[in-house]
Amino acid sequence: MGLIVQKFGGTSVADIDRIRNVARRVAGTYRRGDDLVVIVSAMAGVTDGLIGLARKVNDTPDKRELDALLATGEQTTATLLAMTLTSMNIPARSLMGFQVEVRTDHCFGNARIQDIRVDRVRRLLQERTVAVVAGFQGCDAEGNITTLGRGGSDTSAVAIAAALKADACEIYTDVTGVFTADPNVVPKARKIDRICFEEMLEMASIGAKVLQIRSVEFAMKYNVPVHVRSSFSDEEGTMVVQEDNGMERVVVSAVTMNKNDARITLRKVPDTPGIAARIFTPVAAAGICVDMIIQNTRASGKTDLTFTVPKGDYQTALAIGRTVGGEIGAEDVFGDDTIAKVSVTGVGMRSHPGVAARMFACLAREGINIQMISTSEIRISCLIEQKYAELAVQALHTEFGLDAS
Ligand code: ADP
Ligand code: ASP
Ligand code: MG
Repeated sequence: MGLIVQKFGGTSVADIDRIRNVARRVAGTYRRGDDLVVIVSAMAGVTDGLIGLARKVNDTPDKRELDALLATGEQTTATLLAMTLTSMNIPARSLMGFQVEVRTDHCFGNARIQDIRVDRVRRLLQERTVAVVAGFQGCDAEGNITTLGRGGSDTSAVAIAAALKADACEIYTDVTGVFTADPNVVPKARKIDRICFEEMLEMASIGAKVLQIRSVEFAMKYNVPVHVRSSFSDEEGTMVVQEDNGMERVVVSAVTMNKNDARITLRKVPDTPGIAARIFTPVAAAGICVDMIIQNTRASGKTDLTFTVPKGDYQTALAIGRTVGGEIGAEDVFGDDTIAKVSVTGVGMRSHPGVAARMFACLAREGINIQMISTSEIRISCLIEQKYAELAVQALHTEFGLDAS
């Protein structure tokens, strides 16, 4: 008998029939004798719907109020699932983030988990009651409700699994595992049986939304093996684990894309010390995470500076860019939110030269212009026009030999 954490994403709990399906799966695990903590997301579309409602009353809703509103999505699912389980004679109790207690910092909309108590969860488990926890939410030191960023229920699940030292953390979703590319974009994508934390971390950071990046950080830090699988079948999914010798040795293991960023350029700013700090200090103070940055030095002592930010922060970052640009004498400040970032990733890249050249040549053959490039030890990313994103991912998937036969 073990302690198992199971997380069900939005599509898995999209309506009452699907909640019943989840309850049947949970009941099966419970009846096998395992102790069970279930983490749920809001029903598919609910979080977006609530954001839409908030924007109807205020273009830039107060972040504290927005978090309290969004948390109701997960509250709805947790209570409905607990009721469904009870009706099936499986003892179950719903718990909200503050009841668990998932303590976070004050960063509304993107809060970080600082501590998890789990005493109450443990008490339920001792009584052989299933704890149904609302994912995505926590509370700060003042007792305000916070949320963990889009896709944050994955992080709730892995963090609670780590806090409980659970034997397994299963992430149930609408695909059968982690694929070499988004299977909804690349029909020839292949399921990966085992992937190491590091590679999964890179994939998550560049757009494979199947796991939220912070969930992989937690899994890696506390060595929680994560099983990503479908809630609609019994097929084995993907094990996300520490790197071992049994893993496939390929140069590129996955291709991803991300359409969630926007680009901002400050043209002809002075090429002198302190200018980059002038620009990025207020951006950071606004809580905006900058991703790619490039700076071109020009002969005239002026330089162009371009950076990318999450699309949700585009208008704020553009306004900051315009203010600072005016102060430092930039010739022009403009942006573009119709861009996409395509990336290839794989631990094999460490020992194989020429991956970047192959990627650039492949994009060139498709007539796709590269606007920006960034790299890590095991990843290469290119910023391109959004309309070419799908084409780029498919072409790269074929180029690096990942297509299913
Ligand atoms: P959930 O609601 O269960 O959390 P998400 O929509 O957040 O599910 O994540 C699952 C989705 O992630 C899939 O439907 C798929 O389109 C997308 N995805 C992107 N990249 C990948 C990948 N490499 N492997 C699997 N799924 C991926
Ligand atoms: N409901 C939240 C979202 O849509 C959290 C999650 O699904 O993980 O982002
Ligand atoms: Mg998700």
